[in-house]
Amino acid sequence: MAEHESLEFGKADFVLLDNVSLEEFMANLKLRFEKGRIYTYIGEVVVSVNPYRAMNIYGRDTIEQYKGRELYERPPHLFAIADAAYKAMKRRNKDTCIVISGESGAGKTEASKYIMQYIAAITNPSQRAEVERVKNMLLKSNCVLEAFGNAKTNRNDNSSRFGKYMDINFDFKGDPIGGHINNYLLEKSRVIFQQEGERSFHSFYQLVKGAPDAQLRSLHIQRDPTAYTYIKVGGQIKVFADFKAVTDAMKVIGFTTEEIQTVYKILATILHLGNLKFGSDGDVTLIENSKLVSVLGDLLSTKDENVEKALLYRTVATGRDVIDKQHTHQEASYGRDALAKAIYERLFCWIVGRINDIIEVKNYDARVHGKNTVIGVLDIYGFEIFQNNSFEQFCINYCNEKLQQLFIQLVLKQEQEEYEREGIPWKHIDYFNNQIIVDLVEQQHKGIFAVLDEACMNVGKVTDEMFLQALNGKLAKHAHYTSRKLSPTDKNLEFDRDFRIRHYAGNVAYSVVGFIDKNKDTLFQDFKRLLYNSSNPVLKAMWPEGKLSITEVTKRPLTAATLFKNSMISLVENLARKEPYYVRCIKPNDVKSPLLFEHERCKHQVEYLGLLENVRVRRAGFANRQLYPRFLQRYKMISEFTWPNHDLPSDKEAVKRLLQGCGFEHDVAYGKTKVFIRTPRTIFSLEEQRAEMV
Ligand code: ADP
Ligand code: MG
Repeated sequence: MAEHESLEFGKADFVLLDNVSLEEFMANLKLRFEKGRIYTYIGEVVVSVNPYRAMNIYGRDTIEQYKGRELYERPPHLFAIADAAYKAMKRRNKDTCIVISGESGAGKTEASKYIMQYIAAITNPSQRAEVERVKNMLLKSNCVLEAFGNAKTNRNDNSSRFGKYMDINFDFKGDPIGGHINNYLLEKSRVIFQQEGERSFHSFYQLVKGAPDAQLRSLHIQRDPTAYTYIKVGGQIKVFADFKAVTDAMKVIGFTTEEIQTVYKILATILHLGNLKFGSDGDVTLIENSKLVSVLGDLLSTKDENVEKALLYRTVATGRDVIDKQHTHQEASYGRDALAKAIYERLFCWIVGRINDIIEVKNYDARVHGKNTVIGVLDIYGFEIFQNNSFEQFCINYCNEKLQQLFIQLVLKQEQEEYEREGIPWKHIDYFNNQIIVDLVEQQHKGIFAVLDEACMNVGKVTDEMFLQALNGKLAKHAHYTSRKLSPTDKNLEFDRDFRIRHYAGNVAYSVVGFIDKNKDTLFQDFKRLLYNSSNPVLKAMWPEGKLSITEVTKRPLTAATLFKNSMISLVENLARKEPYYVRCIKPNDVKSPLLFEHERCKHQVEYLGLLENVRVRRAGFANRQLYPRFLQRYKMISEFTWPNHDLPSDKEAVKRLLQGCGFEHDVAYGKTKVFIRTPRTIFSLEEQRAEMV
């Protein structure tokens, strides 16, 4: 339970609500938001509401207030959770993780940065140079990742379009000595297309608007984003971040000049690709603005004719023969867009890989220094329901199902384990277990991913509609699956190509259009060879699979769905091995207003984040638990047996006496090291009595 602020700010911990009802929960959340208290606990979970204004609560003085304190000693804050994770890691040698969830714009990425800043601020008191260097690189890596992985969307001006999990490694002294970043599913379709009001990744605008003249000239780029088809929709708007800051950050992290130049050449390549126009002359497909071909040849350090050939032909093996088959106009455009998306995605993964090479722990000998421990921070896309939901939303929402499942398991598991450890009997409580939805998506042979992969394996033309039919055939009876096709009475043709899933967070209709294509994620082998054969070693290294000739390529690459599923499974396994801390972010309104608390909107989030269930689980057991000495420290003044000191054989006995004296015997249980208090009312009463004494 959190420290007792005046009740004028509402209750600092939702477990203290008089009644656990949605109404009371919402009233408390709203009151706190309006009073500028953006953080509230549910036990050890932080609920955060995006304030949409600068808050004076992240400074040095605040950091000092939280350093080394227990959760309930100070008002709820991210710093308290960060400190708890850090303490658990340091004192008990445990790997911990902080899982930040919430929908787009709810404040996850900001929270992850504050957490990292806090950890950086409280570590390395002796100012060891190496540790300072590592900390600086960890913080700087955010700047680079945001430039390449974030974009303005209609929901968030600086929306992360990838999932991120970052491990920070600590030595035996508790100082950061390195880190590792895992990135998940970059939304690469954004490279070639953006919805109205949205933009491509920041990096493009930073380059076009911020690079020095000479550099732009060498890239054949003009200083006008609207000149480039792929980014022109968002081109008029102000640039978000700074070209120089990003370039400097890359330098600080340790990218070589050649690497940085290659990064910008790749961005320029993509911009030029977008402007390529294909035409036809009779049966022959050709490039209309062929000047661009030599620009691309220059940027990619390869011969112009190779570029042209890769854009217009593909090599196919027919039996023993290898022939060049000309693309149709349409195939050529498809190939160009696929290339643009693929090289951006590859660039992004390469950047993450380079950062990892550099920040990875080196020269750490566990035999000498003891175990190296980890705090992981997960900042990953929240549940998404858009007007039109496609393959990307499907993956993202599956990810959220997985994380919700983990949350359920861990929150309950943790409670159970604590009761066991302390020797307290545990009563099971009911909650919606979303495992059934996880299975619907990922189960072998029967799950949606499996059906999709099977459709993609078929030779010959498989359409999205055929995939939908296969789904309907296999899943029609599933309680969480429906398709409009299954209910012919519904005349709404707009949804004709949808299937719907009843997610734990709500119903979502997915349009199957594009599922097959996005899952296959084909990039013609010719492009891979083109890039591999570049004389730019940095570029070449990004495309090792281009080494294979057409007759050597036998293995079908894994599909996008399988890759994503595997990465989610390993993420969850990784998190499950750690002691988790949770931050649940809520977005108060859609207009980025610091004043508006849209009731329905917030209520929906509270519901799908399962916050009420969380409170119930927490309370069904014991709302509050405290180590005996801690308890005495706080309340000993209210009993003659314990004030100023007790003469009983143990603190446990003293706490028993104190609580008996107050008449709370029925509401508590005594564990081995902690006293467990069932109802919050008892805590209130203790607090009141304490307030009278002090
Ligand atoms: P998410 O990662 O959940 O999509 P962000 O962390 O990018 O959301 O937050 C979106 C925007 O909301 C930020 O750019 C910032 O303007 C504002 N914001 C979020 N958290 C805070 C905070 N703690 N204090 C002030 N503004 C915030
Ligand atoms: Mg984000």
